[in-house]
Amino acid sequence: MDRVRVSILGSTGLVGQWMVKLLANHPFIEVVKLSASPGKVGRKYGEVVHWFLPGDAPEYARDLVLVSTDPSDHRDVDVVLSALPNDVANAVESRLLASGLNVISNASPERINPRVPLINPEVNWNHLTVLREVKGNWLVKNPNCTAAIISMPLKPINELIRELHIVTLQSVSGAGYLGISYLAIDGNVIPFIKGEEEKIDAELNKMLGSQYVDHYVPWGKNVYVTTTRVPVKYGHMAVIHAVLNDSIDQKQIIERLRGFRSFQQEQELPTAPREPIKVLDRVDAPQPMRDLDPMAVSVGRVLVRNNVLRMIALGDNLVRGAAGITILTLETMKVLKIL
Ligand code: NAP
Repeated sequence: MDRVRVSILGSTGLVGQWMVKLLANHPFIEVVKLSASPGKVGRKYGEVVHWFLPGDAPEYARDLVLVSTDPSDHRDVDVVLSALPNDVANAVESRLLASGLNVISNASPERINPRVPLINPEVNWNHLTVLREVKGNWLVKNPNCTAAIISMPLKPINELIRELHIVTLQSVSGAGYLGISYLAIDGNVIPFIKGEEEKIDAELNKMLGSQYVDHYVPWGKNVYVTTTRVPVKYGHMAVIHAVLNDSIDQKQIIERLRGFRSFQQEQELPTAPREPIKVLDRVDAPQPMRDLDPMAVSVGRVLVRNNVLRMIALGDNLVRGAAGITILTLETMKVLKIL
């Protein structure tokens, strides 16, 4: 298989570092450029990165000299992977696209653009196929981290659902490495995350809907969301109550969740978890400290009463919610010969 050459924007941030780590020794994706904010351009990655992940920064990355976000610095790559902050991303990504580059981005601007596929690979990889009809370069967006985690257990049961009520418990790393002040969050819960509730509603409706070249048809369900920030470092949790069209046996729901496999599992793609949804039987699962899996979504407390399903989903906001799906999307596009 031909190698795919990529650059990473925001490579020194939390999501960027995960991409750097996950792409070390990748069988067909090669990182050729790393970028950070203007003050770090021209310096070696290994000298300036404040590495947050276990172990050291991968050897291949340490000697790479950081480049800018200017399109001229990314001419020789097949795809630019963006982990830029939302307020910087729009202008930078627009310039890259205008210069003919392909972009997969984690930032929120353009996620709801009708022409831009919003992809959580196992959930709606088929939305990528519209890019076959697009002449020239393209933009693909990753969903909001919480929408990515929640959409996974909804996928195998989505046609049973009438409406959703969701309360999230989101970790501090969701706000990036400069994130939230320790004093504000230690021993505290903040029941508001700016813009997050609207994003989760709109993005679930887009991913679980149908995508065409120039428009999408939303899933069409009411999604009532309350988001909270909790003093946990990694992992976002969501308490989901789904009002179902009919009452359905709890065992059947669990079988559907456990048995769910998608294109990425069939193709055994390098970044795909073997079991995308892990249904945990322990009464006190899932917990961020015990049950966090990089790419699978852990689900516990599954209960159906009358026609209401309750379940609690937990996922890694930085990997399943961002870096991991960027790479899995790229792997999917390669196998689909969109790249
Ligand atoms: P982060 O930790 O704050 O990292 C931001 C990165 O962007 C750093 O590498 C930073 O470089 C770089 N950067 C900042 N300003 C820049 C500029 N003007 N020009 C070029 N580079 C610049 O953020 P993050 O948590 O990794 O999030 C990155 C993106 O992913 C955001 O859009 C976020 O919404 C999205 N996302 C985050 C999560 C999550 O759980 N954290 C999940 C899903 C999606 P320096 O090191 O040089 O400052």
